Amino acid sequence: EAITVQELANRMAEKGADLVKALFKMGMAVTVNQTIDQDTAELLVTEFGHNIKRVSDADVELELETAEDSEADLQPRAPVVAVMGHVDHGKTSLLDALRGSGVAGGEAGGITQHIGAYQVTMKDKSKITFLDTPGHEAFTEMRARGADVTDIVILVVAADDGLMPQTIEAINHCKAAEVPMIVAINKVDKEDANPQRVRERLLEHEVIVEEMSGDVQDVEVSALKKTGLDELIEKIQLQAELMELKANPDRAAEGTVIEAKLDKGRGPVATILVNRGTLKVGDVFVVGAESGKVRALIDDHGKQVKKAGPSMPVEVLGLSGVPMAGDPLQVVDSETRAREVAEYRSSVLHQKRTAQAPASLESMFSALKENQAIEYPVLVKGDTQGTVEAIIGSLNKISNEDIKVRILHSGVGGITESDVTLASASKAPIIGFNVRANAKAREIAEKNGVALKYYDVIYDLTDEIRAAMAGELGPEA
Ligand code: GDP
Repeated sequence: EAITVQELANRMAEKGADLVKALFKMGMAVTVNQTIDQDTAELLVTEFGHNIKRVSDADVELELETAEDSEADLQPRAPVVAVMGHVDHGKTSLLDALRGSGVAGGEAGGITQHIGAYQVTMKDKSKITFLDTPGHEAFTEMRARGADVTDIVILVVAADDGLMPQTIEAINHCKAAEVPMIVAINKVDKEDANPQRVRERLLEHEVIVEEMSGDVQDVEVSALKKTGLDELIEKIQLQAELMELKANPDRAAEGTVIEAKLDKGRGPVATILVNRGTLKVGDVFVVGAESGKVRALIDDHGKQVKKAGPSMPVEVLGLSGVPMAGDPLQVVDSETRAREVAEYRSSVLHQKRTAQAPASLESMFSALKENQAIEYPVLVKGDTQGTVEAIIGSLNKISNEDIKVRILHSGVGGITESDVTLASASKAPIIGFNVRANAKAREIAEKNGVALKYYDVIYDLTDEIRAAMAGELGPEA
């Protein structure tokens, strides 16, 4: 029994375009008018948090379960902050320094547990949650899996070293994810520190900091000497206030896996960041393709807690297996149901993973066709700065009001793993002009269905993209 995406969307009271997007993330390029099979339909239904009642194999009844929270139930929640930047610029040092900066940090007597995230309570009792796996790999991998947990990114730039390749990558990741950034110019204690040079170089990447009359907050810090930290925290709080981050704490919990591992003594353990609701000991849940019942919750000080509300990271014990970072956790009402959904997901996901087709330019356009503003994300790598600029120039030229090419990242050199993770998060193809992907990058590309397109003539490249655009927009365009 097949159903069109639009029909399913109507029955679920969701937007057709959102279903198309979700399908696209699963590696299926379909439009709202196309039909999908029952397994796919059911997978979508669970993805959107609705209940499935399988009456018979041919007849799927859908029950609405997850309602949106009403404005009145929403309460402010702590911002979730990630730290990115070039290696050795001081990400780990800054995270350590910030960890000790709250009042609670002192009280706890310095016993800290690395669970993948920690929360600091400030003097004014407000809280900030920091993800403590620095770098953009964790960030993009989560996003590739559909998890957008980061509210704010701190971009760490060493004042002596300035902008380096991973700094630029981090900037592009933030832009692609549309996550606001605060620039922390670190190591200002060093003799050869030149913070102004950092601000100037940032301009070249369209990051205009406050000191240069822009609207990206910047602050000079020394993670080593612990200076500027209060100011950095104030800027985080200010940014958080602007964003009006809120969640309903009084509902069945939903969260995201930050880290997961198999612990010798404790079995499968996952660090969950609660997105909304409150997770409690005894709650029954589904997490990715695993299920479980919360046996214990442990906070970032290694202390057992009874519950965890929005933006709080906790280790959860009592899982059937080890989920993946980025997997969603949902509390459900019975263990049977939890097991059913988990088993169902693991079987369908397995089928989908093995049948996944790589994204092509054509499928990209058909998938995005139903959306209003069509953006076509792409990564460009080339053999020289000149060719890369020429390619970007011609891609911009073939953009029109219906379809706009968006350059997620560009650079000189071969296609690397980092390029592929970034592309994968936005399901973008990678264009290699006179360059190829390395073995590891090819492997990840294949696994994640990222298209690698090699060219040695710019005309071929623009021609192929223009043809795909014209074909997909139809005769009226
Ligand atoms: P990461 O690779 O970005 O996590 O960088 P680390 O935090 O490991 O720091 C790299 C090196 O820079 C270490 O030797 C730190 O001690 C040093 N470092 C970090 N922050 C500062 C700072 O503010 N001032 C100075 N002088 N050194 C720093």
